[in-house]
Amino acid sequence: MLPGIDSYASDSSYTSEPAPSTAGHPTADTESSEPSPPPMPLPPHNQRFPDPESAINAINELAQPAGYAVIKGRSKKTKSGMVKKVVLFCDRHGEYKPALSDTSRKRKTTSYASGCKFQATLRRQLLDTDTNANTNAWILTVENREHNGHEPSDASTHQVHRKREMTQQMDAIRSQLDLQIPTRHIMTATQARKPDSCLIERDIHNLRAKLNRDFLQGRTPIQALLMELPTDGKWLFRYTLDPEQHVTVLFAMYQKSLEMLKHNPWVISMDCTYKTNRYNMPLLDIVGFTCTGASIYLGWAFIVNEQEETYKIVMVYLLEMYEHLHENDRSFPSAPSTILTDKEPALINAVHAIFPSTKTIICIWHINMNLMKKALPLLRKAIAEARDNGLIEWDGFSLPSNDHRLTKEGIG
Ligand SMILES: [Zn+2]
Repeated sequence: MLPGIDSYASDSSYTSEPAPSTAGHPTADTESSEPSPPPMPLPPHNQRFPDPESAINAINELAQPAGYAVIKGRSKKTKSGMVKKVVLFCDRHGEYKPALSDTSRKRKTTSYASGCKFQATLRRQLLDTDTNANTNAWILTVENREHNGHEPSDASTHQVHRKREMTQQMDAIRSQLDLQIPTRHIMTATQARKPDSCLIERDIHNLRAKLNRDFLQGRTPIQALLMELPTDGKWLFRYTLDPEQHVTVLFAMYQKSLEMLKHNPWVISMDCTYKTNRYNMPLLDIVGFTCTGASIYLGWAFIVNEQEETYKIVMVYLLEMYEHLHENDRSFPSAPSTILTDKEPALINAVHAIFPSTKTIICIWHINMNLMKKALPLLRKAIAEARDNGLIEWDGFSLPSNDHRLTKEGIG
């Protein structure tokens, strides 16, 4: 229980004030001589709190369901520099400023300020001067009880309440952000966990941006990547930077892949995958084959482009791996005997330049793909003509409908 709230109802000093409404709206007043109850319940007058932060938190616990929020305003210090008074405002205080439509601003801002004059004060009071520990208390006084210029509003419109909830939900949301879960899915999970959650998508978005900034610590994403590469010895990394310090090649091989290469050094295959990263760097996959024909993943390289000079850098890194294994075991070949590629002249030339004794052949899967791509339209035409001429009677005879989606199994 937060300090202050538990004794709110029994606070005798508050009974001289009109009874607060817990519904957040005015209630019918049977005696016209008494002033109307406040539209939003007031925080506990004359209540003691151990410090201003717990006071603000306790007041906002009460204010959230009532549709308002308080924020810390100016504070006053003693000559010795000790804070002796803290003023609290409604978060709708201040003059309303219309939204700025100036296109030079990055974000359109809307002010919720409506000139609310509600004000309360926390004053430090020394309870016992004989002891020097825990002798301070903060006494709350409501100076202006009127919330004017605004109605009670949903907690999601009060940044203070969203910030408080974010503090409580931080661990759960942070672990979801670490898993790269999209914002809308995090929102759904948060609402399932806490049906009265007041968080909005922007809060999740802002936390994601803050965590990214904290992680980067002023580094560019690529600088951060290179500094965060695992150094536990399980991975072998090599990279090249251009004069502007941009990464042109990032090559990686897992230690266990190196072990597998040691036993299966003869035939490897290379091919690029696309759309794997925000920088549109192609990902060159390096795959090996066992004596039983099974494929094994050997390594990968992000490359800035598919030019011969770039492929050569990757081949030099691969050659380094072969030379390393060859130095440790002279029976290990100093180069693969065959490298399978697609029909990519830049890659084939790079292989020949760095591994002059290695044969290159075009991968059968790519040949089949190309064959089907070129031959399918001709075959379709021939079959249609044969049908028209009555040479084929069976309607079930058909060809794959989309040659771009053929799988390896589909062709083989
Ligand atoms: Zn107000």
